[in-house]
Amino acid sequence: MGLGAATAGAVLAPNIFSQRRKHSCVVIGAGLSGLAAAYKLKSAGWSVTILEARSRIGGRVFSHSFKEEPTLISELGAEWVGESHERIKALCSDFEIPLQRHQFEDRLMQNGRVSQPGEWGFSPQAKAAFEKLIKDYDKLTTLQRTALDKLDWWTFLENKGFTQPDLIIRDLMDSTDFGESIRHVSAFSALAEYAESSPHNEMDYKMTGGNSRLVDEFAKRVGADNIRLATRVLEVKQRAGKVTVTTDKGVFDGDACICTAPVASLRKIKFDPPLPTSQAAAIEKLTYARIVKNSVLFDERFWKAENFSLVSDTASHYYFHSTQNQPGKSGILCSYAIGEKADLLASQDNERRMNVITRDLVDLEPRAPQLARSIASYAWQRDEFTHGAYALYRPGQWFGIRPILARPHGKVLFAGEHIADWQGFMEGAIETGETAADALIK
Ligand SMILES: Cc1cc2nc3c(=O)[nH]c(=O)nc-3n(C[C@H](O)[C@H](O)[C@H](O)COP(=O)(O)OP(=O)(O)OC[C@H]3O[C@@H](n4cnc5c(N)ncnc54)[C@H](O)[C@@H]3O)c2cc1C
Repeated sequence: MGLGAATAGAVLAPNIFSQRRKHSCVVIGAGLSGLAAAYKLKSAGWSVTILEARSRIGGRVFSHSFKEEPTLISELGAEWVGESHERIKALCSDFEIPLQRHQFEDRLMQNGRVSQPGEWGFSPQAKAAFEKLIKDYDKLTTLQRTALDKLDWWTFLENKGFTQPDLIIRDLMDSTDFGESIRHVSAFSALAEYAESSPHNEMDYKMTGGNSRLVDEFAKRVGADNIRLATRVLEVKQRAGKVTVTTDKGVFDGDACICTAPVASLRKIKFDPPLPTSQAAAIEKLTYARIVKNSVLFDERFWKAENFSLVSDTASHYYFHSTQNQPGKSGILCSYAIGEKADLLASQDNERRMNVITRDLVDLEPRAPQLARSIASYAWQRDEFTHGAYALYRPGQWFGIRPILARPHGKVLFAGEHIADWQGFMEGAIETGETAADALIK
């Protein structure tokens, strides 16, 4: 694989009599999906080139440290690893990245009143209904699953006996998982996520040193020379069993291509021959969730409990302790806001955003505004490559468009979080990348 037309189609071994020609693949995107695919292919003897539009690797994995406190790490993209995320757990073990046990105990703040863990909860009928839903999930027929997909999670829970106060709390909590109000989320995709992770909640571990370590370990194994940064793919052409990928930095070719671009980016890539109409239409329909993450550095960990988290009805929405298990007097709280709240916070500059986020905390700690030292925010809905944090499957879309998005197009295979069973997770990104690589290796 090479840069420029002169080397296109190359990768012939220096001595064709002594070595067999290596298979080659162009991978679009150096997020976890692309890196996992490239690592697998390279391990199987393929020649790989990853083309990455950003000037950094990692995509939606984006660890951050403040210059004022460089040893403290917070995440502006992916955060937690779930107990059920077997592939990530295995990779972290292979790459010697320790996973730390990590749990939160949610407080609830409504109308300025803070309730401690154990002091708040759902009505008995909502609790019982939810437990039954989780228990019966495995027995759902295909027909029942498809019917569930047509409803939104709010309406479905309401039909199951959730009261208005139950629904309001459920929405505050579950919307942080999906990135939009549960009024917009497919009931099937919501139930599947909770049932398949039960009895855990996908916030069971954190990578020591930050998630970027996993990205860096993959990249080390793929080789820096095989990753082209600041190289945006514009066109993917297939002719006579070859794939030619045109970028703003030249032309690359290979025997196959794995494309991990999120759909907002996929829409801008020209495919020749074009994608089937149904696939192009599915790409147009899928939108991503609006999430802003705000890491606020405080001089003092006034929240005291290591496992501190707070679900609130304020614009700052969900607060959690980012520096759990990281020693120090200073600490970081993250405000994780979704939907309109995310847009509202994204519209402010850093100073105003920090004012809002710390003022929203005064009912918990009156000194919060004075103790805040710095803020780092990332509004994913404004990210030019994703237009959101992760795919949001609206009612009817889980079964309606997800399988179409996953279809290969000749020698171009698709991967990425948006088409994964573990959709919205690092696990899903890696799994789809590896599955695409496996399909080529076979
Ligand atoms: C706020 C937030 C919170 C999250 N929380 C969690 C969590 O707690 N746990 C968890 O497991 N997951 C979480 N996730 C999800 C996780 O980050 C993603 O599932 C995963 O990182 C996606 O990886 P990917 O490779 O599919 O996509 P990406 O990481 O987006 O990688 C795709 C890459 O393709 C590149 N690209 C796009 N277009 C082009 C082009 N034309 N040419 C070249 N390159 C291109 C992009 O720049 C990007 O680097 C979170 C994500 C966000 C944003």
